[in-house]
Amino acid sequence: MPELPDVEKARRDLDGWLLGAKIAAARCEDGYLLRPGSAPAFARSLTGRTVESVDRRGKWLRLGLDDGGRLFSHLGMTGEWVTLATDVRSQRAERARLDVVRRGRASSVRYLDTRRFGRLVVAKDEIAEWTSLGRDPLADGIEASWLREELTRRGRAVKDILMDQSVMAGIGNILATEALWIARVDPRSPGRALHARDVTGLVRGLRRAIDRELQDHGPRRAEGEGDFFVYGRAGEPCPRDGTRLTSVTIGGRTSVFCPTCQVRRR
Ligand SMILES: [Zn+2]
Repeated sequence: MPELPDVEKARRDLDGWLLGAKIAAARCEDGYLLRPGSAPAFARSLTGRTVESVDRRGKWLRLGLDDGGRLFSHLGMTGEWVTLATDVRSQRAERARLDVVRRGRASSVRYLDTRRFGRLVVAKDEIAEWTSLGRDPLADGIEASWLREELTRRGRAVKDILMDQSVMAGIGNILATEALWIARVDPRSPGRALHARDVTGLVRGLRRAIDRELQDHGPRRAEGEGDFFVYGRAGEPCPRDGTRLTSVTIGGRTSVFCPTCQVRRR
C-alpha cells in the first residue's frame, strides 16, 4: 500500500504535469471510486478548470481548481497516476483520465487502479477525510515533545498509534515497522510506557525511513522485497545483531521486529 513517500512522489509528478494546466476533458465512469460523487459530476466539475495547486496530506492528494473546487485522490492499495499522449488508448486498470493543456502542450493524465481501493472525490470544499488527518511528518515536521505528548495520552501499542492517521498522517505498516526497528522499540509497547529517549529515537527513525523511501527512484518494489531493514523479513537475521526476526499481529497488521534489540516497555 502506498505510504507517505510514495504519495509524495505522486504529488511531485502531478505538480509537474498539472500545475497551471487547463483541463480540456475529464472522465471517470467508476461510481465506486467516485463515491459519494458521480460520473457526470466528475466531468462537469473538472472540465474547463485550471489546476492552481497540487497538495498532499498524509496519503491524500488534493488538486485545487481556479473556481475554488477540489479533486481529492487517495491511491488505496494499487492506485497510481501516469501521464501519456492524448491519443494513447485506455490502459489496463485505467479508471479516470484528465486531458490537459499545459504551456500549449496537450497530454493525458490517467489514474490506474487494479484493486479499486482508491478514491476520487470532487468537492466544493474540504472533505472530512482530509480535515481529520493528523500532523504530516514531511509537510508539518514532527518534534519529539509533540510526539511524546500524543503517545503518553494513549495506552494502545505504539505501532498502532504511529499508524493512526488522525494522530500522524501518512505512516503505514512499512514506515512504522522500520522506524520502530531504527529506534530499538518493541512495537507492542504501550504508547504511554515509552521513555523520552525512545520517542527521540522514533522521530529519528521516522525521518530516516521516510528519507530512504523518498530517495528510492527505482521501479516500485513489491511487498516484502527491496532494501528494508526488517519489513517483510520475518525469519531472517536482524541486520544489527543477527537474531532471527519475529512477527506479531498488531491492529490487524503483521509487525516484524527483533526480540533482542527492540526493547519492550510496559
Ligand atoms: Zn536486533
